[in-house]
Amino acid sequence: MICPYCNKEMKKGILSGDGRSAVTWKEGDKKAGFYDKLGLAGYTVTAVRRTLAAFTVESYFCPECKKMIFDTDVK
Ligand SMILES: [Zn+2]
Repeated sequence: MICPYCNKEMKKGILSGDGRSAVTWKEGDKKAGFYDKLGLAGYTVTAVRRTLAAFTVESYFCPECKKMIFDTDVK
């Protein structure tokens, strides 16, 4: 997917959180693990407020603009 802000290629990854730690995003098809949350590979998404429910969302991330795009209605 091309970023609509800067027209560069976005990275496909998984946005995830479990309500106990920071919301993170990781490139690929697996959610960020414990070591990713230490800052080794995951990207912490500070805009997301934490709740008690765990979640994962497939999303595209632009490192240039710090923007994400994801489908809100996935069947
Ligand atoms: Zn961009």
